[in-house]
Amino acid sequence: MDKAKLGKRFEGKVAIVTASTQGIGFSIAERLGLEGASVVISSRKQQNVDEAAEKLRAKGIEVLAVVCHVSNAQQRKNLIGKTIQKYGKIDVVVSNAAVNPSLDPILKIQNSILDKLWEINVKSTILLLKDVAPYLQKGSSVVLISSLVGYNPPPTMAMYGVTKTAVLGLTKALASEMAPNTRVNCVVPGLVPTHFTAFLTNNDAAREKVEGNKLIRRCGTTEDMAAAAAFLASDEASYITGENLVLAGGVSSRL
Ligand code: NAP
Repeated sequence: MDKAKLGKRFEGKVAIVTASTQGIGFSIAERLGLEGASVVISSRKQQNVDEAAEKLRAKGIEVLAVVCHVSNAQQRKNLIGKTIQKYGKIDVVVSNAAVNPSLDPILKIQNSILDKLWEINVKSTILLLKDVAPYLQKGSSVVLISSLVGYNPPPTMAMYGVTKTAVLGLTKALASEMAPNTRVNCVVPGLVPTHFTAFLTNNDAAREKVEGNKLIRRCGTTEDMAAAAAFLASDEASYITGENLVLAGGVSSRL
């Protein structure tokens, strides 16, 4: 990314991005940081948090790095507490964490896996925002991360897809609840090669099939997702709330 070509839309702002030590979350933290934000990154593993922080600092970004498994209440509180202690406010929250632990059909999924999917993909966002809400500034912005499969959950990712459908709805409901001081929008990625999707994107045939179905004949990049998240989080989107923005290279049957 050419830093010289980027704006400074987040100068003086404080942004929390969950699950941000690699993939889409990391690119969002990087983009917000390059545009001037102080970024608070986190994930489950200390080593990943340390390494990601080092990469961002090497690019001149102001970073606070905290371990936070999003379904751990104490770690969520610590994430927010450390942010307030260091920066005194929160302007942007990007809730990015999700898991996809099962390829089973919905009626065959173990109870414990169902709980994990709801806990991490849906409930943790609600609980995080509950704790963050008292610190959100007037003009603040929340960005959730859904998935194209949320519109039409496929058989191999059915329950994961349903949790992402819930995130689309959550965006609408929270936008209403948090207005007018906080806007809530959602980035909806199609297939983006990351660790999360390596099982698919490392398979040439599967990847080419997906790419062939797109008007723009390639997979998305983490930078594509970061650009959209940064736009939605910025004041340039100050009249946009409750919207789900699909980034999938033109693959979609929705109007
Ligand atoms: P990724 O590259 O696998 O990165 C996942 C990140 O999340 C890592 O930093 C990981 O670090 C952290 N993490 C995992 N579980 C966590 C937890 N319970 N609490 C906190 N951090 C956790 O994943 P990605 O592809 O960027 O996916 C990011 C988001 O985009 C997810 O919401 C996913 O559903 C969505 N999405 C992705 C695609 C795609 O094609 N990639 C498409 C649609 C939607 P640690 O291991 O250190 O925790």
